[in-house]
Amino acid sequence: MTTHVIVGSGLAGAKAAQTLREEGFDGELVLIGAERERPYERPPLSKDYLQGKSEREKIFVHPPGWYGKHDVDLRLGVSATRLALDEHVVELSDGTRQPYDKLLLATGATPRRLPGPGLTLRSVEDSETLRDGLARGGRVVIVGGGWIGLEVAAAARLAGCEVTVVEPEPLPLARVLGAEVGAVFAALHREQGVVLRLGVGVASVSDHGVRLASGETVEADLVVVGIGAAPNVELARTAGLEVACGIVCDASLRTSHPDVYAAGDVAEPYHPLYGRRLRVEHWANALNGVPAAARAMLGREVVYDRLPYFFTDQYTLGMEFTGDTTGYDEVVFEGSVPEREFVVRWSRDGRMVAGMNVNIWDGVEELQNRIRADLSRS
Ligand SMILES: Cc1cc2nc3c(=O)[nH]c(=O)nc-3n(C[C@H](O)[C@H](O)[C@H](O)COP(=O)(O)OP(=O)(O)OC[C@H]3O[C@@H](n4cnc5c(N)ncnc54)[C@H](O)[C@@H]3O)c2cc1C
Repeated sequence: MTTHVIVGSGLAGAKAAQTLREEGFDGELVLIGAERERPYERPPLSKDYLQGKSEREKIFVHPPGWYGKHDVDLRLGVSATRLALDEHVVELSDGTRQPYDKLLLATGATPRRLPGPGLTLRSVEDSETLRDGLARGGRVVIVGGGWIGLEVAAAARLAGCEVTVVEPEPLPLARVLGAEVGAVFAALHREQGVVLRLGVGVASVSDHGVRLASGETVEADLVVVGIGAAPNVELARTAGLEVACGIVCDASLRTSHPDVYAAGDVAEPYHPLYGRRLRVEHWANALNGVPAAARAMLGREVVYDRLPYFFTDQYTLGMEFTGDTTGYDEVVFEGSVPEREFVVRWSRDGRMVAGMNVNIWDGVEELQNRIRADLSRS
């Protein structure tokens, strides 16, 4: 019997198992996950779930009985420790050796830390610990003004905490969205009473707060570190697969070994429209990239060329972002920035490369169509 193995039981791993079964794969299907919880979605962990507004059961990708019903051998609390490509075997932390015909690596990413204490946010347990911390009130310092840092800042303000965000860039989100849109998010958070310490890094974290690179101390009852995540590539790297930042794949999500695929946060596939490899740490990428990888595992012709897509909710601002702003030379706003109902279009060399709609819904498809058309132009 053919055996397909998926390593990583996050959204990508769970959706891969679902797609393989939906596409008619009737062989043995093994899903290996280091976490003890069955697969769940992470976006609520910094939003509704962190704010205590949604039930735990709602975060899971599938109901508890789904895996048994679909004959998926779900092995939780078990890590893949070594991959032997020549033998087509994955070695597991429980001492067993799992053979495979095709393997999908969906090992996700791990939050970067700073030396010393400070909470990070990746797992449901992290979110629950943080929620308890926010419920105690007091002073919260958040290191990092990226997506997770800002969403935690919003949750902390809604919980009544005093919040300071420390970000080495001159504006939050500047690396992803540029200064123009970074300024919109800075204004939003300042309006809500968040203190932004911009243009300065954190030198160290202690039980009493953080010391800034400038030497100044910012006291805190709780420190949250949201400085990005590193893809979990060790398994692939030590096996000899090609790894850049993530696991290098072609447009069908196949790695440098023909029987091994990668998807989700850990994958760095070639994107045919952008003409380069793109590693995307977004929910929609785990959701949509995986069916492509699963079909490729079944021998179908696949080209994964979806545009990156991300959403966030902070206070009353909801937004969808699509594309990639790298190297943009023009940014245009349409609508009302003061009323926070607007669309942003980023372009490079006269071609639209990214777009965003803020508190305007149903606009993302139009933005994506335009980006696709522009990027396809020779
Ligand atoms: C708090 C938070 C909020 C987010 N909010 C948004 C949002 O609003 N919008 C958005 O677009 N994206 C958001 N994201 C990003 C999105 O959740 C990720 O892109 C998505 O979870 C990626 O899924 P994945 O399955 O690739 O990786 P993961 O979810 O990281 O899952 C990988 C799994 O593999 C396991 N694993 C790793 N190594 C091994 C091994 N050797 N053996 C066995 N198992 C292993 C890990 O323990 C983990 O369970 C958020 C992420 C976080 C953390």
